Amino acid sequence: MNLIKMVVIGFGGMGSYHARDLIAAEAGAEVFGVYDIDPVKNKQAASEGFFVFDTLEAVLNHPEVEAVLIATPNDSHQELSLAALNAGKHVMCEKPAMMSSLELEEVLSVASEKELTFMVHQNRRWDDDFLIIRNLYQTREIGELFQIESRVHGANGIPGDWRHLKEHGGGMVLDWGVHLLDQMLFMIDCPLQSVMADLSYRLGDPVDDGFIAYLVFENGVRAIVEVGTSNFVKLPRWYVKGFEGTAVIKDWDLSGEIVKQTGHVAHNDLVPIQAGQGLTKTMAPPSEEATTCLPLPEAVADFDYIYANFAKCIREEAEPIVKSEEVMAILRLIEAIFESAKTQQTIHF
Ligand code: NAD
Repeated sequence: MNLIKMVVIGFGGMGSYHARDLIAAEAGAEVFGVYDIDPVKNKQAASEGFFVFDTLEAVLNHPEVEAVLIATPNDSHQELSLAALNAGKHVMCEKPAMMSSLELEEVLSVASEKELTFMVHQNRRWDDDFLIIRNLYQTREIGELFQIESRVHGANGIPGDWRHLKEHGGGMVLDWGVHLLDQMLFMIDCPLQSVMADLSYRLGDPVDDGFIAYLVFENGVRAIVEVGTSNFVKLPRWYVKGFEGTAVIKDWDLSGEIVKQTGHVAHNDLVPIQAGQGLTKTMAPPSEEATTCLPLPEAVADFDYIYANFAKCIREEAEPIVKSEEVMAILRLIEAIFESAKTQQTIHF
């Protein structure tokens, strides 16, 4: 398969990562060039050996450029995507796809009219911690999962510049939130029934510095998704409960464990423990025979890496791994999260 000739638009934190990662991945696409509005970034790209375009028009008018990878602040995604699609280029766009579902509708309609691929870079579907939890969800090793808690906690506030500003699509819902919500919807793959959410403005920014969302799916699964930037002590990255056990992944290093029930708890044999100023049987540890500890399963992605899939969508009309309707569902969920936080109401879908 001929490599897809891609131009990376925006050579900041993520764009420069893409440019280097695309080369390292050797997966169906190559960096044909780079374009940033900031001359300093262009100079940096040139010093790393990338061909640098002087203007966006030069990128879009170049007959050999087949696709662009948009890695600019969130509020510029729609304008750049539309310009690229209208110039006949395929698009891989950073998350969040757009600032609203309405913006996305317009982009998808142009992509479909022009028969071009528009894909969103939901790269965290390939994260090992997520793949392990997805494996548990699918294999039911600890029974059906009925409660899934996904969190990222940091203590550095909101980093960077535009991420503090509403007009640029700042805030944590549109940043980490997009990843965690995408993982949850991709894994559970069942319509959402409702969401209730609360946003944090503890740092005094005009955008949220964290949030908690409580999701209920039509198959009965409950999920908590939380992002925090003032958490000097972190809660685990994942905490999941199945009908036959509990699993935890503490951090990116994949430390964690599974505790599985081996048989029924013999309630009559439970010995009360001292707990604070009282006794409890309910919270006493289960007997050793009642549980067993298992290692976390392997992290396996049973689907192509995102660049390879993007290239196959263009060359071989493969099914996209990140589908347009999934991206639309994330944006609609995000809109519901903002609405729920504003009205303090549960939003039903
Ligand atoms: P950044 O500020 O580091 O870089 C953005 C770059 O875009 C800057 O160099 C800026 O000069 C350039 N730029 C701005 N407007 C432009 C335009 N109209 N044309 C060309 N260049 C333009 O930001 P970042 O952290 O790299 O984030 C960029 C995008 O990547 C955001 O949408 C963000 O959500 C996403 N992102 C994704 C991940 C991920 O894991 N998928 C991680 C980080 C960031």
